Amino acid sequence: MNCRFCNSDKLHVFIDLGMSPPSNSFVDFENLQNSELLFPLKINICEDCLLVQAEEYKKNNEIFDDNYLYFSSYSESWLKHSENYVEMITQKLSLSKDSFVIEIASNDGYLLQYFKQKNIPCLGVEPTKNTAKIAQDKGIETITDFFGVEIAKKLSTENRKADLILGNNVLAHTPYINDFVEGIKIALKPEGICTFEFPHILNLINKNQFDTIYHEHFSYFSLYTVTEIFKDHGLEIFDVEELNTHGGSLRVFGKHSSNETNKTETFQKVWNDEKNMNLHKLSGYLNFEEKALKVKKDFIEFLEEKSKQGRKIAAYGAAAKGNTLLNFSEVNNEIIKFVVDKSPYKQGKYLPGSKIPVVDEKMLEIEKPDYIIIFPWNLEEEITKQLSYVRTWNAKFVVAIPKLKII
Ligand SMILES: [Zn+2]
Repeated sequence: MNCRFCNSDKLHVFIDLGMSPPSNSFVDFENLQNSELLFPLKINICEDCLLVQAEEYKKNNEIFDDNYLYFSSYSESWLKHSENYVEMITQKLSLSKDSFVIEIASNDGYLLQYFKQKNIPCLGVEPTKNTAKIAQDKGIETITDFFGVEIAKKLSTENRKADLILGNNVLAHTPYINDFVEGIKIALKPEGICTFEFPHILNLINKNQFDTIYHEHFSYFSLYTVTEIFKDHGLEIFDVEELNTHGGSLRVFGKHSSNETNKTETFQKVWNDEKNMNLHKLSGYLNFEEKALKVKKDFIEFLEEKSKQGRKIAAYGAAAKGNTLLNFSEVNNEIIKFVVDKSPYKQGKYLPGSKIPVVDEKMLEIEKPDYIIIFPWNLEEEITKQLSYVRTWNAKFVVAIPKLKII
């Protein structure tokens, strides 16, 4: 087992979350009694380049298969975020009908639809056929494959290099980080810009967000590591924005290294924040596991106490975050009765591992639970507002991370 970026064999354990099923492998009723495939969820840190990374356990195409159940368009705040991005970047780069935009991991066209509305030519690259199909039905050209050197070369020979390449939460999802970044180098016009969003490891560590760790995430980046990786492929990260999405993300801006640009003040600020937290050396990454174990302990104690008192406990948001927390805490459907999710693709299925049934929101009115655990803590405000009617029967909301909070 070597580092997926620099190939060093000096890897140390960052956190070991035990064995768990892939978090998007929802279980059908017919398979409820069958045992699931479990994989170790163990994250290492490379002593040489400081990339925090999962041990590869499974081929990429087995995770992002045709039954992939994540559709970006089901979150309103994410749609708004995407629309704002398109406005911002269109102005910043003066994009027009003569430009060309490529989005990697374009999902169901949740973002490219806003470029299309502006008549800016765009192309999506999305490996999961069922999500890509929805984008194609909206009239968004989509290649159904994994992005990398091969696709980039093809686009380049077809004279389809991009003015803008963007990827939201895809950099962390690719196991072949070198092939991916080399592909960007090839597919980007000489004056082109690329932007990537990913959860910032500084927040993961500071805010105890170990539940953002799941099998589909292969890397956890600092500004430092992402800058080093891009530099290795002839690209320079020169600017960064701090975002509130996913509990604190970075949006980095890159270009070809050969173009002269100074690094921005924000870049220096984030770089220094990381340095002050010791994230530019190994010691900043140790002791994280201990903090996660404390969250697990508090979460289990809360559930056991309320369950003993005969309280009814439900949850909201059948997302990967919840699965990591549930499986790490070994909580099952005897304690948490059901989880509500808006996506009709998930309703009627069961969460991997815990086997908690996923149901429509109307179940809240019917069952009137005393406590509703919000798994996607990053959407706490949106969800508590949307579900404010549960106050009529005095239900309370609960968030487990960064520490147990009853709302
Ligand atoms: Zn390394």
